[in-house]
Amino acid sequence: MQGKLFCGYCGSPMVAESGRSSTGNVYYYYSCAKRNKHRDCKKKNEKKDFIEWYIVEQICEYVLEPKRLEYIAGRVVETYNADLGNEAVEELEKRLRSIDAELDKVTTAIINATTRGVIDRMNERAEALELEKADAEIDLARLRVAAGIKLQETEVAAFLRGFCQGDPLDLDFRRKIIDAFLNSVYLYDDKLVMYFNVKDGKQISFIEMLSDSEEPGGEDYIEDENSSSLNGGGSSANR
Ligand SMILES: [Zn+2]
Repeated sequence: MQGKLFCGYCGSPMVAESGRSSTGNVYYYYSCAKRNKHRDCKKKNEKKDFIEWYIVEQICEYVLEPKRLEYIAGRVVETYNADLGNEAVEELEKRLRSIDAELDKVTTAIINATTRGVIDRMNERAEALELEKADAEIDLARLRVAAGIKLQETEVAAFLRGFCQGDPLDLDFRRKIIDAFLNSVYLYDDKLVMYFNVKDGKQISFIEMLSDSEEPGGEDYIEDENSSSLNGGGSSANR
């Protein structure tokens, strides 16, 4: 989860650390990098296992909320169908045109060649281009077939429901959920602000987070105002 976790007070990354208790047990936590280095941020440490569990639990709850699930499925379908119809096909058609143009040039070069060496080199190049062209044509044919198969919102919703079915205590399940949905989390001592992955996958900067927080109601984040329970370890599970 490191790399997606930030301090809500100063925007620094929260880094994974470990320590040893007086009884000799090793414990793991996340700590604000600025506080670690210069001691000038007030963010308290977060127990690693708890905060990861809590975030995954919150993500699943967020995604599975029926109205939101419908919205996400709608966006997935929209993006998928748009990509198939346009960008990917256009990209391949462009590649095919440029291969054809280069093939023309190579053919001209072969016709005008005066030495054996040049002819051999050009023949090799022509063969490579023909192979590349055949590959691109297969890809294009596949895409055109796929474009005819429209994704249904109900299918996507069912998939998401299945995808989010798991135990937040399970580390593999945690990783899967975090990879798929989480853009970044800003941790305060009494709340957290979570950003979900959007299409371009850009990470939300501290400044963007602050300007977002001033006007709540954005579509891609949740703010958890349930105070004083985040640092409480086991007890804070009862929310
Ligand atoms: Zn900080």
